[in-house]
Amino acid sequence: MFRRLIANHGPITLQHYMGESNARYYAANDPLGSAGDFVTAPEISQMFGELIGVWLTDMWTRAGRPAGVRYVELGPGRGTLASDALRVMRRHGLEPPVHFVEGSAALRRLQASAVPGAHWHDDPGSLPDDGPVLLVGNEFLDALPVRQMVKTAQGWRERMVDWQDGRFLPVSGDRPMDAAVPPHWRDAPDQTVIESCPAAAAVVDEIARRLARHGGAGLLIDYGYTAAQTGSTLQAVRAHQKVDPFAAPGEADLTCLVDFAAAAEVATVAGARHLGTTGQGDFLRALGIQTRAAQLSNVAPPQSSAIRAAVHRLIDGDEMGELFKVMGLAAPGWPDGAAF
Ligand code: SAH
Repeated sequence: MFRRLIANHGPITLQHYMGESNARYYAANDPLGSAGDFVTAPEISQMFGELIGVWLTDMWTRAGRPAGVRYVELGPGRGTLASDALRVMRRHGLEPPVHFVEGSAALRRLQASAVPGAHWHDDPGSLPDDGPVLLVGNEFLDALPVRQMVKTAQGWRERMVDWQDGRFLPVSGDRPMDAAVPPHWRDAPDQTVIESCPAAAAVVDEIARRLARHGGAGLLIDYGYTAAQTGSTLQAVRAHQKVDPFAAPGEADLTCLVDFAAAAEVATVAGARHLGTTGQGDFLRALGIQTRAAQLSNVAPPQSSAIRAAVHRLIDGDEMGELFKVMGLAAPGWPDGAAF
């Protein structure tokens, strides 16, 4: 499909390439778990979703247990996080209706069996907008398509994807893009690449507006950075290996690091409160992952070494503990979040 498009109209933007590749990838696959392409935190251990449930319940409780609250999840994968978080919420008398933003029909089917009665949306624009939300998105923003600008001898150009000599290849576009680049990057050295993610900004804007209007709180968790940086962060993963992002579009998961500084700014401008962005390790430790691990080990002693290994993977600085960040958002009148 890309080949014909490029043959007829010339190179396509990287943003177009990444968006269409991922739409096709997720439509056809359940990429999660050890038999798939990559493993996410909720698939490592139930403790991850449980502690997110604890955080959301705590926010709701300290906000005065408002009525009409909904659970919203962006890109719920197999529904594992939701089912773990909702189980914890239920124990505290919180049984919100569930709204999922999910583009993949294959994953919607898995989510339906994990969380009966859920409602689905193609994008956050159609989420309910008349009551408070408790929201979470794990590894959602990183799958959204980025735009890259490259500094060339002729000035800034958009990064495009061409088909040459039997393969896809990143190239620089023809059109001058200097006006699209923030002023402080204008004179960067040749070959400098800057990324932006208009789709992520649009998602954060949609949810932050809902928080501002009707109350609520949310967590966005992803592999990302908190201070502006340059360089391409595009990568492709297939069967737990990094592969060339241009080798087989639609057959590998394409991701980019999330720019949490940009996301926090969008959220704040839209009227939500940025509670902070912290490492996943610090977040889970503050919520008591070690205590929960000890409880689970007591209940099932033969599992204790697997539980210890899962904790290590989720919080250790050499594993997911520092690269993964947790961003907390809340409505203006809502309390500060635990762990931020
Ligand atoms: N949160 C899950 C899954 C992460 S994978 C977990 O942690 O295990 C990314 C998820 O986002 C998948 O469910 C995928 O289908 C969904 N997704 C990716 N891009 C999307 C888009 N543009 N619109 C809607 N859903 C999308």
